[in-house]
Amino acid sequence: MEELSALELRDQIAAGKISSVEATKAVFERIRKFEPVIGAYISTHEDRALEFAADVDRRIAAGEKMGQLAGVPVAIKDNMCTTFGATTCASKILENFHAPYNATVVEKLLAADAVIIGKANMDEFAMGSSTENSGLKQTVNPWDTTRVPGGSSGGATAAVAGRLCFAALGSDTGGSIRQPASFCGVVGLKPTYGRVSRYGLVAYGSSLDQIGPITRNVADTALLLNVIAGHDPADSTSVDETKAPVSVYLQNLDKPIDGLRIAIVPQFNAGAEEQVQKALNEAISVYKNLGAEIIEIEMPHLDYAIAAYYVIATAEASSNLARYDGVHYGHRTENPRDYVEVYTKSRAEAFGQEVKRRIMLGTYALSSGYYDAYYLKALKVRNLIRGDFTAAFEKCDCVMMPVAPTTAFKIGEKVNDPLQMYLSDIYTISANLAGIPGISIPCGMDDKGLPIGLQIMVPAFVEEKLLRIARMFEAQTDWHMKKPPMNEK
Ligand code: GLN
Repeated sequence: MEELSALELRDQIAAGKISSVEATKAVFERIRKFEPVIGAYISTHEDRALEFAADVDRRIAAGEKMGQLAGVPVAIKDNMCTTFGATTCASKILENFHAPYNATVVEKLLAADAVIIGKANMDEFAMGSSTENSGLKQTVNPWDTTRVPGGSSGGATAAVAGRLCFAALGSDTGGSIRQPASFCGVVGLKPTYGRVSRYGLVAYGSSLDQIGPITRNVADTALLLNVIAGHDPADSTSVDETKAPVSVYLQNLDKPIDGLRIAIVPQFNAGAEEQVQKALNEAISVYKNLGAEIIEIEMPHLDYAIAAYYVIATAEASSNLARYDGVHYGHRTENPRDYVEVYTKSRAEAFGQEVKRRIMLGTYALSSGYYDAYYLKALKVRNLIRGDFTAAFEKCDCVMMPVAPTTAFKIGEKVNDPLQMYLSDIYTISANLAGIPGISIPCGMDDKGLPIGLQIMVPAFVEEKLLRIARMFEAQTDWHMKKPPMNEK
């Protein structure tokens, strides 16, 4: 059963061939077996999930009209608020935080009758590229347990790859859905900024954050996007559907794009490992054989994406994380001398190193005297990067590039060298700066048997086309069918 896609499982449940309770029980069986090795979840909610699943089964039997994900067990990254269980953001400061409301995406999953089974591990406050910055636990890559799953949505992604759920939601500020998807051999989509409501997503970099699906194939990503996309009055940055309609992403999925024009940026891609470049080139030839035209372009400002991102993201983070003051949320220091110590000690005790580093960087970049030199400059660079994409999309339908310069690296390899870690975001960050959608789909393996992802980017709100382009590749290849060797402890 675990090999069914989310869509297939939903259809089998609807047809009465499998019950949601059976599917949910099967997932928890696997979690009991493999979670001690993988460490994908911060919390699981078996009783609640089984109760929900039983209710779905009952309503299906009664002939009720069901939601798009009726009965399917899904996971969410632990930075999305739920009224059940804690919402920790993998931080000691929020370890015991119980949200008083559900994130909009959670409400949408529930309305679609999805069975939310657990909350997945991540880098603390989504800051990282390997999930090693989690303040609560370690997640490993199901393909090689000595390696990282990628990050920051590493728990959700490892859970999807390891069949510890049928699909998941992650969040992507600079690559946190696409990069782990690439490392774990699954599909991950960062939608257009504004496509999915961020209400109830714990904020990291508010002008960059976006929630998106992590699934085993493109159809499942389309299905999940159908469920979560759309305007939300509670998030003023979510976009009006009359301006950008939520297409029925599944409907035309198998219809290839005629006369597809693909842009590649050879100079920029040369920064990736040879095997990653090779997989990219092979993927491009698959499209060529399907009749696509390949256009080589330059995007001169992408080289500055990391520098601009780490100013903007840290600036926004320093502001967003000011709310953890030892009073409103989470951890409070014991026996403070005065109220200043409530603030300083609570934060000093409960934030991890990387979070502190980013708060300091961001505070510095925003301080008077430096604001113009760093923050304002970074915003200008962001505009230039946006311009590179606008210019590119005048000539092509999509831009393709690697997702990450390497395949999954060893646990511990980069964690003490933040700059090396930041460099692993080089190919994903520009989509967030430009606000455009990007997808990672499995497109190869390196000589160690580790998955490699292909990244495809399109203009804002063109997800329907993006998914069709991705599906064209998937229909020709079987990289998405490969599964990791799972061993019990
Ligand atoms: N690795 C990037 C960072 O650390 C992106 C993380 C993310 O997308 N949440 O900021």
